[in-house]
Amino acid sequence: MSVSGLCELCQTNEVVDGCDRCGRVVCADHYDRPTGLCTDCLKEAGGRPTGEEDPVPGDGPDGVDTYEF
Ligand SMILES: [Zn+2]
Ligand SMILES: [Zn+2]
Repeated sequence: MSVSGLCELCQTNEVVDGCDRCGRVVCADHYDRPTGLCTDCLKEAGGRPTGEEDPVPGDGPDGVDTYEF
């Protein structure tokens, strides 16, 4: 499927693809290829598609005590 026309977000650049969520056709600047979403939906969807590094819970010293008998 080929799309043509102007980006629905900036009305300036040529359309490259359609958003999977809202269906708007957007330019390369407003299309996030990895997720298939426009930048508008990307923001609404949480913003961070990659780099989800949760801090490890309870990362204290564990089993490093020295026992003296
Ligand atoms: Zn645009
Ligand atoms: Zn969208």
